[in-house]
Amino acid sequence: MTISIIVPCYNEAESLPYFYEEMKKVSAQMEKYSLELLFVNDGSKDGTLALLKAYAQKDSCVRYLSFSRNFGKEAAMYAGFCNAHGDYVAVMDADMQDPPSLLPKMVEILESGEYDSVATRRVSRVGEPPIRSWFARRFYEIINMISDADVVDGARDFRLMKHEMVDAIVSMSEYNRFSKGIFGWIGFRTYWLPYENVERVAGETKWNLWSLMKYAVDGIINFSQVPLSIASWSGLFMTLVSFVLLLFIVIRKLLFGDPVMGWASTICAIVFIGGIQLACLGIMGQYIAKTYMEVKRRPHYIIAETNQKDVKCVK
Ligand code: UDP
Ligand code: MG
Repeated sequence: MTISIIVPCYNEAESLPYFYEEMKKVSAQMEKYSLELLFVNDGSKDGTLALLKAYAQKDSCVRYLSFSRNFGKEAAMYAGFCNAHGDYVAVMDADMQDPPSLLPKMVEILESGEYDSVATRRVSRVGEPPIRSWFARRFYEIINMISDADVVDGARDFRLMKHEMVDAIVSMSEYNRFSKGIFGWIGFRTYWLPYENVERVAGETKWNLWSLMKYAVDGIINFSQVPLSIASWSGLFMTLVSFVLLLFIVIRKLLFGDPVMGWASTICAIVFIGGIQLACLGIMGQYIAKTYMEVKRRPHYIIAETNQKDVKCVK
Protein backbone atom coordinates (compact mmCIF):
# COMPACT_ATOMS: atom_id res chain seq x y z
CA MET A 1 0.00 0.00 0.00
CA THR A 2 1.26 3.45 -0.87
CA ILE A 3 0.37 6.65 0.94
CA SER A 4 0.96 9.91 -0.90
CA ILE A 5 1.47 12.92 1.30
CA ILE A 6 0.82 16.21 -0.46
CA VAL A 7 2.74 19.09 1.09
CA PRO A 8 2.10 22.61 -0.24
CA CYS A 9 5.14 24.79 0.48
CA TYR A 10 5.44 28.51 0.16
CA ASN A 11 8.63 29.96 1.65
CA GLU A 12 9.03 27.06 4.05
CA ALA A 13 12.83 26.63 3.93
CA GLU A 14 12.98 27.16 7.70
CA SER A 15 10.38 24.58 8.68
CA LEU A 16 10.97 21.96 5.95
CA PRO A 17 13.97 20.28 7.65
CA TYR A 18 11.89 19.69 10.82
CA PHE A 19 9.02 18.39 8.75
CA TYR A 20 11.19 16.06 6.68
CA GLU A 21 12.89 14.61 9.79
CA GLU A 22 9.55 14.02 11.49
CA MET A 23 8.08 12.38 8.38
CA LYS A 24 11.03 10.03 8.15
CA LYS A 25 10.44 8.98 11.76
CA VAL A 26 6.75 8.41 11.14
CA SER A 27 7.49 6.48 7.97
CA ALA A 28 9.88 4.19 9.89
CA GLN A 29 7.02 3.41 12.31
CA MET A 30 4.73 2.40 9.46
CA GLU A 31 6.60 -0.49 7.87
CA LYS A 32 3.51 -1.90 6.17
CA TYR A 33 3.14 1.14 3.98
CA SER A 34 5.38 2.98 1.59
CA LEU A 35 5.16 6.72 2.05
CA GLU A 36 5.59 9.03 -0.89
CA LEU A 37 6.16 12.71 -0.16
CA LEU A 38 4.77 14.93 -2.90
CA PHE A 39 5.98 18.46 -2.23
CA VAL A 40 4.41 21.29 -4.20
CA ASN A 41 6.61 24.34 -4.25
CA ASP A 42 4.19 27.22 -4.70
CA GLY A 43 6.61 29.78 -6.17
CA SER A 44 8.73 30.17 -3.03
CA LYS A 45 11.25 32.98 -2.98
CA ASP A 46 13.58 31.40 -0.41
CA GLY A 47 15.62 28.19 -0.49
CA THR A 48 12.60 25.85 -0.53
CA LEU A 49 13.16 24.54 -4.06
CA ALA A 50 16.86 23.90 -3.46
CA LEU A 51 15.98 21.93 -0.32
CA LEU A 52 13.37 19.88 -2.15
CA LYS A 53 15.85 19.08 -4.91
CA ALA A 54 18.41 17.96 -2.33
CA TYR A 55 15.84 15.69 -0.63
CA ALA A 56 14.73 14.26 -3.98
CA GLN A 57 18.30 13.44 -4.92
CA LYS A 58 19.05 11.38 -1.83
CA ASP A 59 15.58 9.99 -1.20
CA SER A 60 13.55 8.14 -3.82
CA CYS A 61 10.32 8.69 -1.83
CA VAL A 62 10.47 12.44 -2.46
CA ARG A 63 8.74 13.95 -5.45
CA TYR A 64 8.28 17.60 -6.10
CA LEU A 65 6.31 19.86 -8.41
CA SER A 66 7.51 23.42 -8.63
CA PHE A 67 5.16 26.16 -9.84
CA SER A 68 6.26 28.98 -12.12
CA ARG A 69 4.95 31.49 -9.56
CA ASN A 70 2.83 31.64 -6.41
CA PHE A 71 -0.63 30.27 -7.27
CA GLY A 72 -1.92 29.89 -3.70
CA LYS A 73 -2.43 26.91 -1.41
CA GLU A 74 -5.66 25.83 -3.10
CA ALA A 75 -3.89 25.48 -6.47
CA ALA A 76 -0.98 23.69 -4.78
CA MET A 77 -3.34 21.16 -3.19
CA TYR A 78 -5.14 20.65 -6.51
CA ALA A 79 -1.83 19.98 -8.26
CA GLY A 80 -1.06 17.45 -5.54
CA PHE A 81 -4.43 15.71 -5.92
CA CYS A 82 -4.01 15.54 -9.71
CA ASN A 83 -0.59 13.90 -9.39
CA ALA A 84 -0.89 11.71 -6.28
CA HIS A 85 -0.87 8.01 -7.13
CA GLY A 86 -1.08 6.48 -3.63
CA ASP A 87 -3.91 4.22 -2.44
CA TYR A 88 -4.33 6.67 0.39
CA VAL A 89 -3.67 10.37 -0.01
CA ALA A 90 -3.06 12.97 2.69
CA VAL A 91 -2.65 16.73 2.63
CA MET A 92 -0.33 18.20 5.21
CA ASP A 93 1.16 21.65 5.91
CA ALA A 94 4.92 21.96 5.92
CA ASP A 95 5.01 23.93 9.19
CA MET A 96 4.15 20.99 11.51
CA GLN A 97 0.83 22.55 12.47
CA ASP A 98 -0.61 19.32 11.09
CA PRO A 99 1.23 16.87 13.36
CA PRO A 100 2.74 14.03 11.26
CA SER A 101 2.55 11.87 14.41
CA LEU A 102 -1.24 11.63 13.92
CA LEU A 103 -0.76 9.77 10.64
CA PRO A 104 -0.48 6.18 11.99
CA LYS A 105 -3.71 6.63 13.92
CA MET A 106 -5.45 8.06 10.84
CA VAL A 107 -4.35 5.12 8.72
CA GLU A 108 -5.63 2.74 11.39
CA ILE A 109 -9.06 4.36 11.30
CA LEU A 110 -9.21 4.14 7.48
CA GLU A 111 -8.11 0.49 7.63
CA SER A 112 -11.09 -0.33 9.84
CA GLY A 113 -13.11 0.09 6.64
CA GLU A 114 -15.87 2.15 8.19
CA TYR A 115 -14.69 5.46 6.78
CA ASP A 116 -13.47 6.88 3.46
CA SER A 117 -11.54 9.71 5.00
CA VAL A 118 -10.13 10.89 8.31
CA ALA A 119 -10.20 14.64 8.77
CA THR A 120 -8.75 16.68 11.58
CA ARG A 121 -10.13 19.61 13.51
CA ARG A 122 -8.56 21.85 16.08
CA VAL A 123 -10.44 21.88 19.36
CA SER A 124 -8.57 24.92 20.65
CA ARG A 125 -7.25 28.04 19.07
CA VAL A 126 -4.48 28.69 21.57
CA GLY A 127 -1.81 31.02 20.26
CA GLU A 128 -4.16 32.71 17.80
CA PRO A 129 -5.16 36.38 18.10
CA PRO A 130 -8.62 36.53 19.78
CA ILE A 131 -10.06 38.77 17.06
CA ARG A 132 -9.06 36.22 14.43
CA SER A 133 -10.73 33.42 16.41
CA TRP A 134 -13.90 35.48 16.79
CA PHE A 135 -14.18 36.14 13.06
CA ALA A 136 -13.36 32.49 12.29
CA ARG A 137 -16.21 31.29 14.55
CA ARG A 138 -18.71 33.69 12.92
CA PHE A 139 -17.55 32.55 9.47
CA TYR A 140 -18.26 28.89 10.26
CA GLU A 141 -21.68 29.76 11.66
CA ILE A 142 -22.64 31.79 8.60
CA ILE A 143 -21.34 29.43 5.93
CA ASN A 144 -23.08 26.44 7.52
CA MET A 145 -26.31 28.39 7.76
CA ILE A 146 -26.42 29.53 4.15
CA SER A 147 -24.57 26.96 2.07
CA ASP A 148 -24.63 23.25 1.31
CA ALA A 149 -20.88 22.96 1.94
CA ASP A 150 -21.09 21.57 5.50
CA VAL A 151 -17.86 22.99 6.95
CA VAL A 152 -16.88 21.94 10.47
CA ASP A 153 -15.63 24.64 12.87
CA GLY A 154 -11.87 24.35 13.29
CA ALA A 155 -11.54 21.93 10.36
CA ARG A 156 -8.05 21.84 8.89
CA ASP A 157 -7.12 20.88 5.36
CA PHE A 158 -5.12 18.05 6.96
CA ARG A 159 -6.86 14.79 6.09
CA LEU A 160 -6.17 11.30 4.88
CA MET A 161 -8.48 9.83 2.26
CA LYS A 162 -8.99 6.91 -0.06
CA HIS A 163 -8.19 7.37 -3.71
CA GLU A 164 -11.87 7.32 -4.73
CA MET A 165 -12.38 10.50 -2.76
CA VAL A 166 -9.36 12.11 -4.43
CA ASP A 167 -10.84 11.27 -7.84
CA ALA A 168 -14.03 13.06 -6.78
CA ILE A 169 -12.03 16.11 -5.73
CA VAL A 170 -10.09 16.16 -9.00
CA SER A 171 -13.37 15.94 -10.91
CA MET A 172 -14.43 19.22 -9.31
CA SER A 173 -12.21 21.27 -11.56
CA GLU A 174 -13.68 24.67 -10.73
CA TYR A 175 -11.28 27.57 -10.95
CA ASN A 176 -12.39 29.25 -7.72
CA ARG A 177 -11.46 26.58 -5.23
CA PHE A 178 -12.49 26.40 -1.59
CA SER A 179 -11.27 23.01 -0.44
CA LYS A 180 -12.98 23.01 2.94
CA GLY A 181 -16.28 23.34 1.07
CA ILE A 182 -15.31 20.84 -1.63
CA PHE A 183 -14.45 18.16 0.96
CA GLY A 184 -17.86 18.63 2.56
CA TRP A 185 -19.76 18.84 -0.72
CA ILE A 186 -18.50 15.56 -2.21
CA GLY A 187 -19.75 13.66 0.84
CA PHE A 188 -18.21 10.26 1.74
CA ARG A 189 -17.97 8.94 5.28
CA THR A 190 -15.60 11.13 7.27
CA TYR A 191 -14.19 10.54 10.73
CA TRP A 192 -13.31 13.74 12.61
CA LEU A 193 -10.18 13.51 14.66
CA PRO A 194 -9.86 16.32 17.22
CA TYR A 195 -6.48 17.64 18.34
CA GLU A 196 -5.01 20.58 20.26
CA ASN A 197 -3.73 23.48 18.19
CA VAL A 198 0.01 23.38 17.51
CA GLU A 199 2.02 26.47 16.71
CA ARG A 200 4.26 26.72 13.67
CA VAL A 201 7.83 25.38 14.19
CA ALA A 202 9.51 28.13 12.19
CA GLY A 203 8.77 30.86 9.69
CA GLU A 204 5.58 32.91 9.57
CA THR A 205 1.96 32.37 8.62
CA LYS A 206 1.00 33.66 5.17
CA TRP A 207 -2.36 34.88 6.38
CA ASN A 208 -3.35 38.25 7.75
CA LEU A 209 -6.78 39.43 8.83
CA TRP A 210 -7.51 40.95 5.41
CA SER A 211 -6.59 37.83 3.43
CA LEU A 212 -8.64 35.71 5.83
CA MET A 213 -11.64 37.99 5.28
CA LYS A 214 -11.22 37.58 1.53
CA TYR A 215 -10.95 33.83 1.96
CA ALA A 216 -14.16 33.82 4.00
CA VAL A 217 -16.09 35.89 1.45
CA ASP A 218 -14.79 33.68 -1.39
CA GLY A 219 -15.82 30.56 0.51
CA ILE A 220 -19.35 31.85 0.98
CA ILE A 221 -19.69 33.01 -2.62
CA ASN A 222 -18.34 29.72 -3.96
CA PHE A 223 -20.84 27.62 -2.07
CA SER A 224 -23.94 29.74 -1.58
CA GLN A 225 -26.42 31.75 -3.62
CA VAL A 226 -28.00 33.19 -0.48
CA PRO A 227 -26.28 36.62 -0.75
CA LEU A 228 -27.95 37.03 -4.16
CA SER A 229 -31.34 36.23 -2.63
CA ILE A 230 -30.66 38.70 0.18
CA ALA A 231 -29.97 41.33 -2.49
CA SER A 232 -33.23 40.68 -4.31
CA TRP A 233 -35.37 40.33 -1.17
CA SER A 234 -34.01 43.54 0.31
CA GLY A 235 -34.78 45.26 -3.01
CA LEU A 236 -38.37 44.02 -2.84
CA PHE A 237 -38.66 45.05 0.81
CA MET A 238 -37.38 48.56 0.02
CA THR A 239 -39.92 48.90 -2.79
CA LEU A 240 -42.73 48.00 -0.41
CA VAL A 241 -41.51 50.46 2.23
CA SER A 242 -41.22 53.27 -0.31
CA PHE A 243 -44.73 52.51 -1.58
CA VAL A 244 -46.13 52.84 1.94
CA LEU A 245 -44.20 56.09 2.40
CA LEU A 246 -45.56 57.38 -0.88
CA LEU A 247 -49.12 56.69 0.23
CA PHE A 248 -48.41 58.45 3.52
CA ILE A 249 -47.05 61.55 1.77
CA VAL A 250 -49.93 61.77 -0.74
CA ILE A 251 -52.53 61.42 2.02
CA ARG A 252 -50.79 63.99 4.20
CA LYS A 253 -50.67 66.42 1.25
CA LEU A 254 -54.39 65.93 0.61
CA LEU A 255 -55.30 66.43 4.26
CA PHE A 256 -52.90 69.23 5.27
CA GLY A 257 -51.68 70.70 1.94
CA ASP A 258 -48.08 71.19 3.04
CA PRO A 259 -45.78 70.74 -0.01
CA VAL A 260 -42.45 72.20 1.20
CA MET A 261 -41.84 70.00 4.22
CA GLY A 262 -39.87 66.80 3.81
CA TRP A 263 -36.80 67.62 1.76
CA ALA A 264 -34.60 66.12 4.48
CA SER A 265 -36.48 62.85 4.39
CA THR A 266 -36.24 62.86 0.59
CA ILE A 267 -32.47 63.16 0.69
CA CYS A 268 -32.31 60.43 3.35
CA ALA A 269 -34.36 58.11 1.20
CA ILE A 270 -32.24 58.78 -1.89
CA VAL A 271 -28.99 58.14 -0.05
CA PHE A 272 -30.37 55.06 1.67
CA ILE A 273 -31.74 53.51 -1.48
CA GLY A 274 -28.58 54.45 -3.38
CA GLY A 275 -26.53 52.62 -0.74
CA ILE A 276 -28.67 49.50 -0.89
CA GLN A 277 -28.50 49.50 -4.69
CA LEU A 278 -24.74 49.78 -4.68
CA ALA A 279 -24.43 46.99 -2.12
CA CYS A 280 -26.66 44.73 -4.21
CA LEU A 281 -24.71 45.56 -7.36
CA GLY A 282 -21.54 44.72 -5.44
CA ILE A 283 -22.90 41.32 -4.44
CA MET A 284 -23.85 40.58 -8.05
CA GLY A 285 -20.46 41.84 -9.17
CA GLN A 286 -18.78 39.27 -6.93
CA TYR A 287 -20.68 36.45 -8.61
CA ILE A 288 -20.08 37.86 -12.09
CA ALA A 289 -16.34 38.15 -11.36
CA LYS A 290 -16.26 34.50 -10.28
CA THR A 291 -18.20 33.49 -13.41
CA TYR A 292 -15.78 35.50 -15.54
CA MET A 293 -12.75 33.68 -14.11
CA GLU A 294 -14.58 30.37 -14.45
CA VAL A 295 -15.44 30.80 -18.17
CA LYS A 296 -11.91 31.88 -19.03
CA ARG A 297 -10.78 28.37 -18.13
CA ARG A 298 -7.28 29.47 -17.25
CA PRO A 299 -4.99 26.76 -15.90
CA HIS A 300 -5.10 26.29 -12.12
CA TYR A 301 -1.32 26.12 -12.01
CA ILE A 302 1.75 26.00 -14.22
CA ILE A 303 4.56 23.63 -13.34
CA ALA A 304 8.00 24.95 -14.22
CA GLU A 305 10.03 22.06 -12.83
CA THR A 306 9.53 18.58 -11.46
CA ASN A 307 11.31 15.29 -10.87
CA GLN A 308 8.19 13.32 -11.74
CA LYS A 309 7.60 11.67 -15.08
CA ASP A 310 4.15 11.70 -16.70
CA VAL A 311 3.22 15.00 -15.11
CA LYS A 312 0.80 17.38 -16.76
CA CYS A 313 2.56 20.72 -16.50
CA VAL A 314 -0.50 22.85 -17.01
CA LYS A 315 -3.86 22.08 -15.45
N1 UDP B 1 0.98 27.80 1.39
C1 UDP B 1 1.08 27.65 0.00
N2 UDP B 1 0.84 28.73 -0.80
C2 UDP B 1 0.47 29.94 -0.29
C3 UDP B 1 0.34 30.07 1.11
C4 UDP B 1 0.58 28.98 1.92
O1 UDP B 1 1.42 26.58 -0.49
O2 UDP B 1 0.28 30.88 -1.08
C5 UDP B 1 1.27 26.63 2.26
C6 UDP B 1 2.28 26.89 3.36
O3 UDP B 1 3.60 26.69 2.90
C7 UDP B 1 1.89 25.90 4.44
C8 UDP B 1 0.37 25.81 4.26
O4 UDP B 1 0.08 26.30 2.97
O5 UDP B 1 2.46 24.61 4.21
C9 UDP B 1 -0.36 26.60 5.33
O6 UDP B 1 0.08 27.93 5.36
P1 UDP B 1 0.18 28.77 6.70
O7 UDP B 1 0.93 27.99 7.73
O8 UDP B 1 0.71 30.11 6.33
O9 UDP B 1 -1.34 28.90 7.10
P2 UDP B 1 -1.97 28.71 8.57
O10 UDP B 1 -1.45 27.40 9.09
O11 UDP B 1 -1.51 29.86 9.37
O12 UDP B 1 -3.45 28.67 8.33
MG1 MG C 1 0.45 26.99 9.37
